[in-house]
Amino acid sequence: MFFWLTVFIAGAVIIWVKYGDIILTTLSKPNKKKYKKVTSDRIKILVPSSYILSSNVYLIENGRNSIIVDTGSKYIYKELIDNLQKLTNPRHIVLIVLTHSHFDHTGCVHRLKQLCTKAKVVIHEDEKMCLHDGNCNIPRSSKYLVDVASRIGQILTYVPILKHYSTYEGIEADITVTDGMSLTSYGYSNTSYILHTPGHTSGSISVILDNNIALIGDLVGNGSVHNMYADDPETMSRSIKKLLDIGIETFYGGHGPPFTRVDVLRAYEEHIEN
Ligand SMILES: [Zn+2]
Repeated sequence: MFFWLTVFIAGAVIIWVKYGDIILTTLSKPNKKKYKKVTSDRIKILVPSSYILSSNVYLIENGRNSIIVDTGSKYIYKELIDNLQKLTNPRHIVLIVLTHSHFDHTGCVHRLKQLCTKAKVVIHEDEKMCLHDGNCNIPRSSKYLVDVASRIGQILTYVPILKHYSTYEGIEADITVTDGMSLTSYGYSNTSYILHTPGHTSGSISVILDNNIALIGDLVGNGSVHNMYADDPETMSRSIKKLLDIGIETFYGGHGPPFTRVDVLRAYEEHIEN
């Protein structure tokens, strides 16, 4: 029995070492069919998310003051660069905002920074060391079964051979924010800014445009508005309420199509009742 178990584990490790990158690249492939209605004149998807292995990568188009929000996992780099060069001049990117430091949002930041030579990388102060190290813990989930998977994922990241897949090339942040940051000096209205919206992680931030649109990373939902992952669920609820109180109508999340205000309000009420 012990012999066969050893053979099985050794076989799995060999397959993973040999084909791990191919498997994860395949799992990171975006689901393009779902994204036909996502883009607007102002907000475009550079690469849509896969279910969990890579986040949405957004382009906020504003001429020579455009902003990229999140960079996806390291497995989507080629598609990201191709699409970026089709849509805009990389030198027109002034900020690369990282909503938080999870590998599925930050995997391409190092290479993207090399291409977008005028861009400054922005992250919250609490997560600048995760960005520097290229490593951040996987959060818990409010759903029991997903939480079990999260816990297993957390344990697996301690296995060196698997850690390779959830880490990325670290980078120094150019700008760290605490409570928030105005975007007026980059040619945006005075109701456009970066806001600290902790909960999913302690340093999660959102980009607010005209107090009406928010790009929120993983603050609400992951694939579905009801799948909530949070290091601190109560803090997450307060952050969601903060965005609802501002009057946000459209929430561009890290995974899947955008959520409406009605979607988020319903999920928020469901969350605080449980
Ligand atoms: Zn995340």
